[in-house]
Amino acid sequence: MKNLWSDREAARYVRHYRKQGVNADLALRVYTSRLLGANPRLVLHGGGNTSVKTTLSDIMGDPVEVICVKGSGWDLGDIEPEGLPAMHLAPLQKMVALDALSDENMVNAQRTNLLDSTSPNPSVETLLHAFLPHKFIDHSHADAILALVDQPDAEAICKQVYGERLAIVPYVMAGFMLAKLAAEIYEGNPHVEGLLLLKHGLFTFGDTAKESYDRHIQAVDAAERFASAETEDSRVPRGNPSGARRYRCPSGRCRATRGTPRRRCDT
Ligand code: ZN
Repeated sequence: MKNLWSDREAARYVRHYRKQGVNADLALRVYTSRLLGANPRLVLHGGGNTSVKTTLSDIMGDPVEVICVKGSGWDLGDIEPEGLPAMHLAPLQKMVALDALSDENMVNAQRTNLLDSTSPNPSVETLLHAFLPHKFIDHSHADAILALVDQPDAEAICKQVYGERLAIVPYVMAGFMLAKLAAEIYEGNPHVEGLLLLKHGLFTFGDTAKESYDRHIQAVDAAERFASAETEDSRVPRGNPSGARRYRCPSGRCRATRGTPRRRCDT
């Protein structure tokens, strides 16, 4: 899988959005979100989401630490800054101490912490992004990754392909419990470049938009190379082994199926 990052294009995004009062963090978040979203091998069914932690100004001009996460109804491929609604970060991060949280309370907490009350609902995977400490986080349900993490012996295969670079998170439906589990696993493996979520997808992270994107492409590329090498002895079927008829959205949180219009998958 080709890495499409361009320093010149990145600088163009920063200049373009600066004129609209958008900071460089968010401009670069838009840039690499679009790089992911433009690649059907990463987001064939419209799933996946991205985030950035940054500082914005509130109405008084005071600085506010926020997390901007892809919002419902936006496609990564043509996302704009308003498709990445900003929420107060600290109150969301505090919620990691809870033992449980209903979906309704989670959605309410996310909406309550929006800086702009007219924003779309942030992704159901918002807390996973908030509980991880990294500035930039990229998440996809890439086909080549699903071909590994959907296998019965996924853990052994993932260890073989990635060694210690990515940590493995057992399957839990997207939401508070998955966010908490992913944070715990990251804390036990703080050197990793990302997380492989069994039967779900890939999270990568970094200090910069480029670092997180580079790690995402490297991880998917490794999965594609492994799958194409192994296909010859038919251990791993090419593409998504779920098959066209049995496809389900890997987040477990929406009814997207193969052929569902991309905007219908809001994870
Ligand atoms: Zn997901």
